[in-house]
Amino acid sequence: MQKAIDWAGQNERRAVDDLSALIRMPSVSFPGFPERPLDESAEAVAALLKSRGLENVEILRLDGAFPYVYGDWLHQAGKPTLLLYAHHDVQPPGREPLWKSAPFDPQEREGRLYGRGSADDKGGVVIHASAIAACLEALGELPLNVKVLIEGEEEIGSPHLEAFLKSQAARLAADAMVLADTSNFDTGVPSITTALRGLVSFDVTVRSLTTSIHSGMWGGPAPDPVQALSRMIASVCDKDGGIAVPGLPRGRKLSAAEEKSLKALTYGKAALRRQSGFLPKTQVLAKDGAILRKLWYEPAFSVNAFEASSRKDCANIVNDQAWCHMGMRTVDGMDPRRTLKAMQNHLKRRAPWGVSVEFSNVTASPAWKAPSSPVVEAAARAFSRGYGRPAAFIGCGGSIPFAGPFSKVLGAPVVLEGVGDPYARIHSENESMHLGDLRKAIRGEIYLFDELARLGRWPKA
Ligand SMILES: [Zn+2]
Repeated sequence: MQKAIDWAGQNERRAVDDLSALIRMPSVSFPGFPERPLDESAEAVAALLKSRGLENVEILRLDGAFPYVYGDWLHQAGKPTLLLYAHHDVQPPGREPLWKSAPFDPQEREGRLYGRGSADDKGGVVIHASAIAACLEALGELPLNVKVLIEGEEEIGSPHLEAFLKSQAARLAADAMVLADTSNFDTGVPSITTALRGLVSFDVTVRSLTTSIHSGMWGGPAPDPVQALSRMIASVCDKDGGIAVPGLPRGRKLSAAEEKSLKALTYGKAALRRQSGFLPKTQVLAKDGAILRKLWYEPAFSVNAFEASSRKDCANIVNDQAWCHMGMRTVDGMDPRRTLKAMQNHLKRRAPWGVSVEFSNVTASPAWKAPSSPVVEAAARAFSRGYGRPAAFIGCGGSIPFAGPFSKVLGAPVVLEGVGDPYARIHSENESMHLGDLRKAIRGEIYLFDELARLGRWPKA
């Protein structure tokens, strides 16, 4: 493999140029943005995969979905097959005046390449293409079979992914999958995400009157739906922010490996305050050593929007109704349907004064936990070699809709590989990719091909 590693080192510039070319395409998948750039970026990705040595490159379409790009190299009969995933669509640019250089005009500054999609997730596309190219150019072959799938609608929640995977199950069949679209714990620290929280969310509408009324004439005996909903919301958590809904757990038991990797990571209140923009006197609702545990392995509740009258229409009234949208981040072991039921039963029980309570707009997606598999261990060894630092196993408080469908439909172990670092500002203005990490990630993936080929066969997930 050394030859492939050397080749990647000598051709670093090519990876940066590939990434720049992809960034120039404004492939925003959000509604209201032009759709043509998504076709163009799919074509550009297909051309890139082809020029880097992949075969059977094709743009795959499913009705109503933005285009997927597929390519493979399948010349190692008897060796395992690895499916590599990334996505070519991007978030909207956000507030353009805040960008130091235009979002779709890639610019290199202080070892980082700036531009929308640089880390999320065109960096992932380039890591896959470059690692494959290094092997094919330097060795004339890959040590195992590889398939590449680049999605076009990850940023809008992969609405067609499960249907797409089902329709293409034979073509995409693999022994393991590497999804390059999560973040590393820190710059230069290769990280494998092994736990994701799920999300159960819904609207709550509380009504007490047929119409809003004068708060002087009727206030007192007339129940205020805003107060009623506020009491209901307040009953979901205790004073320290822990979940206080009967039937819902406050956290989950960690495996020995998870406990071990938590111990290896240092993350304190100061880092949390800085990274998430706390005001000076705002308290952190976790003890210093317990922040990551709370972020990754405990459920969390938030109210995402609240409405009753409006600033513009503010008057001396008792409102007829109050509305909110709330979300519960769940952890492994919490069934989404049962969580939803427990939440809604609790809120109804806590609704005072005979107000009417209605639920609507429900979403429910499960938490995810990586299987323990020799593949995950091999990936950790490979990324450690690639970055020259031990790989970290981390959780992620967020919910990634594509992780579940992949392991469910394709039935093979999934490795979530980090692309950007915490300073990449994905989804925000001035997104960037650390170029040192891009280089290391490419090396890590070359080593991964090697490690997996040497594993031979392993049990399916
Ligand atoms: Zn992404």
